[in-house]
Amino acid sequence: MKDSSTHSLPASPDLAWARCLHEIRPEVETQRFKTWFEPIKAESLEVGQNGAWLTLRLPSRFHGDWLVTQYGRLLERVVSVVLGDSGRVTYTYEAIQPRIESSVAPVTAPSVDRLIGGREAVKAHVSSERRRAVATGASLHPKYTFERFVVGDCNRLCASAARAIAENPGATSFNPFFVYGGVGLGKTHLIQAVANHVVDEKTASSVHYVSSEQFTASFVWSVRNNKMGAFSNLYRNLDVLIVDDVQFLSGKRKTQDEFFHVFNSLHQAGKQIVLSADRPPTEIDGIDEYLISRFQWGMLADMQMPDAKTRMAILEQSAKEQGIDMSVDVLRFIADNVKNNVRQLEGALTKMLAVAQLNAVPVDVPLAQRILSDMLGSSKQGHSIDFIADVVSAHIGIPTTELRDRSRRRPIVFGRHVAMYFAKQLSGKPLTSIGRFFGGRDHSTVLHAISSIEQQIEYDREVRQTVDAIRRKLQTASAG
Ligand code: ADP
Ligand code: MG
Repeated sequence: MKDSSTHSLPASPDLAWARCLHEIRPEVETQRFKTWFEPIKAESLEVGQNGAWLTLRLPSRFHGDWLVTQYGRLLERVVSVVLGDSGRVTYTYEAIQPRIESSVAPVTAPSVDRLIGGREAVKAHVSSERRRAVATGASLHPKYTFERFVVGDCNRLCASAARAIAENPGATSFNPFFVYGGVGLGKTHLIQAVANHVVDEKTASSVHYVSSEQFTASFVWSVRNNKMGAFSNLYRNLDVLIVDDVQFLSGKRKTQDEFFHVFNSLHQAGKQIVLSADRPPTEIDGIDEYLISRFQWGMLADMQMPDAKTRMAILEQSAKEQGIDMSVDVLRFIADNVKNNVRQLEGALTKMLAVAQLNAVPVDVPLAQRILSDMLGSSKQGHSIDFIADVVSAHIGIPTTELRDRSRRRPIVFGRHVAMYFAKQLSGKPLTSIGRFFGGRDHSTVLHAISSIEQQIEYDREVRQTVDAIRRKLQTASAG
């Protein structure tokens, strides 16, 4: 058993919480980790005779209640690992604008102290400087603003619509505004920028940002605890409702019904609704037709992979903000090689910086090359269809031109199908572009080709070996 007097304590609240997160991360599913743990901040770390006491700041009381019912034991365990056996944790909450608070408070009635057996005192602490929390209920990232959102051809439409909405919520025809696109392309950043703008410029008196997972949890909790009155009160009296990642409503019938009512009452009252998802409404399974059709009432905008120029601009901004002095060549190298996810782009920059600092050397292109190859080697990105076709063609001994032609000879068809299979996995390009590249074929032909290869991989050892060998070549190529 650990003895608290000899336990080496973290030097700051942030460090203590960082260590806790480090322990928690492997135990919790990623999406849940992001929803429930990432928004938490360390408020203070007090060390007394009876042990250390970590105070965490949570976005809302509801968040606290949910967290403790779901993860109370995990938190206690982790805190005792990090702070020693007598380590304790308490919670405080972001302030909520009074207008909203009156409706939020009853939703979150049973207080955390009861849920965790009275071991910890709860300081529901309201501070006037917590401007970011005004009227939002969930945490807004202060850096997710329009000023920091780099606009390029890939996202111009989304960005200007979002701005128009933020300036005049409910008054544009973009209602709802539905933005969709793959992971890490900036959807959350953009829709939070709407919320931040509304708060900063006071273009509406209440705005609520919530992930669909939080919405669901809040709904379920309210039903169980007979607080639906308060729940409806909160959601139906907003000027702007922003719901992130609505695809997670999939399969949740009751929540969808409730969301449908919320949607209708806000929309009818001319209030603004902003939604995001990882795919267009029609491709979301498990959500009722009546909601899907409403999602398409206003404006649908897709967020595309950033083009090279935008990637470079994002990197330059990021480097400047962090005071990173890195040559343009290196930045360009990163921008040219990390192609389909902005989060990864920023990750690459951070990694370069860390390596440079550890080794006390400036990062040059060859070093950047080595660092990136580690990152990209294991990830599914970075190859053009052209390049994939060439590698496949070289491996099976059929010229690329034939793969791109319309020949139906068996070995050629096989090679073409394998190339399509890898193009889907590694190029990040849509099926239509892949089809166009391989002799102007349509999207369903490509799908068919891919599933044919997938089946052959299952049943035919030779095919599996060929495909594996090509995969290794493609991986080596990305690491070189
Ligand atoms: P998504 O919600 O689509 O998965 P995020 O909004 O979380 O993506 O974006 C991932 C990261 O990339 C964030 O740190 C965000 O600030 C950054 N980012 C994405 N697009 C842009 C952009 N156009 N300009 C600046 N930063 C961006
Ligand atoms: Mg997101």
